[in-house]
Amino acid sequence: MLELTPDRRLTGGLRLLAHKSESTTEPILRGLVPPELILPLHQHGGNPAVPIVDVGREVAKGETVAAAGDMPSAAVHASSSGRVRAIEERLVPTGSRLRRSLCIVIETDGEDRRAAPSEPLGWPESATARIERIAEGGLAGLGGAVFPTAAKLAAVAGRCKALIVNGAECEPYISCDDMLMREAPEEIVAGALLMCDLVGAPVCILVIERDKPRAIEAIGAAARAAGDPRLRLAEVPTIYPAGGERQLVELLTAEEVPSGEFPSAIGYVCQNVGTAFALHRLATRGEPLTSRIVTITGQGVARPRNVEAPIGAPIGWLIEQCGGYRPDVARLIHGGSMMGYALPSDDLPITKATSCIVAAGPGEVRQSFEEWACIRCGDCASACPARLQPQELLVAAGAGDFARLEALGLDDCIECGCCDVVCPSHIVLTERFRAAKRAHAAHVRRLELSAESEERYRRRERRIEDAESRARAAQEALKAKLRADEAARREAIEAAVERARRRKSRNV
Ligand code: SF4
Ligand code: SF4
Repeated sequence: MLELTPDRRLTGGLRLLAHKSESTTEPILRGLVPPELILPLHQHGGNPAVPIVDVGREVAKGETVAAAGDMPSAAVHASSSGRVRAIEERLVPTGSRLRRSLCIVIETDGEDRRAAPSEPLGWPESATARIERIAEGGLAGLGGAVFPTAAKLAAVAGRCKALIVNGAECEPYISCDDMLMREAPEEIVAGALLMCDLVGAPVCILVIERDKPRAIEAIGAAARAAGDPRLRLAEVPTIYPAGGERQLVELLTAEEVPSGEFPSAIGYVCQNVGTAFALHRLATRGEPLTSRIVTITGQGVARPRNVEAPIGAPIGWLIEQCGGYRPDVARLIHGGSMMGYALPSDDLPITKATSCIVAAGPGEVRQSFEEWACIRCGDCASACPARLQPQELLVAAGAGDFARLEALGLDDCIECGCCDVVCPSHIVLTERFRAAKRAHAAHVRRLELSAESEERYRRRERRIEDAESRARAAQEALKAKLRADEAARREAIEAAVERARRRKSRNV
């Protein structure tokens, strides 16, 4: 196995306090069964799943409760046994924001009774059947973006230059990938090789940041034991946000992902280590994605640690399993300290997008500083890993100038928050860019709707014109027929008069 140590430097980025040791002293807490599960049908950027159970129905663990909708989509499964109590809209945390989603609410029975595995068990032969099995198994990227795995793998199948298995967990506080790599390295490596087979990748790069020596050791040993020549281990520098897909591809291959594109555009696919683990479970045990590893941490929680959380478990209940809150908890954050966002309550469920919950103490939350005017120091541009000009984006966002925002590459902003951290004027740039993206999406939607309504108007006008010209043609045809009928009638009369005149002259 060739070990890579990329010397290339990440553009921009920051060295931050990791805050990971607090949650990595105890093993992952497993076997949790919450009293209630709230299963959102829309947990990612794809299309929502479609419910296939009714209220009152008994369900077993692993049973499909919502089938994958229009692709890209991923099915949703009951993460424990119980009874469907409601199907209703709830507020749920997804990758980059809270959203309202239809949810299937299950009252669990505490038995954690598993459904019989779907038939036939085992991993199908054909790539198409494997992709279908992955969509049915509800797999979605567990690194944060939660894009349906089936669609992501299908996009690059047959033309993949390398599969990148991402264990570069760079954001402060989050340690779920680190702990999974320490505790289940063989399954991660085996899952990575299954993905390699599926997309036909000649190389599989297992990437880990240098500050995770135990994970490096565990994954390295598992990869050597697997003895597959496609495997490479790459240790990357501990710098935030080295774990971003685009940053990782550039760091490992020196190739730049084109603006507005995904790594698949240049033949690479990145998958999180948790996704590789989940794929292995699906392929070898027929188990769909019903749980994920979540870091519960922060000064506001009694025993910070990682838990194997059933998808849909209420956040407050999970915090109780970690000793509950300390008295001075100041804020609840979904995700890490850089890309995470504040939650309004702990009644919300864990979703496939939840890598970390920070119950932050007063010293861990950003103090609210007064914002000053931009002094055009350029620090934000130096820190930006996407090579953007945040100060220019700020001006364009303030003016609502969507054309300029597009030209400046707003879409390439990965919302990493580096620009906020370095800004001496305390300007909350990332939040402005998130809002600008939402406003831009709404603007594009408005343009689409207006183009659609214009097209509808044009079609209506064409239909009216067609109908009028058909009516005119019918009228002309009728008039011509009446004229022809009149001429024929006259001819007949004249002929009859002529016949009468001839008879009369013969009789005289
Ligand atoms: S870091 Fe802040 S003050 Fe400096 S250029 Fe960027 S936005 Fe302006
Ligand atoms: S949030 Fe966006 S603009 Fe700011 S540093 Fe990150 S990628 Fe650059």
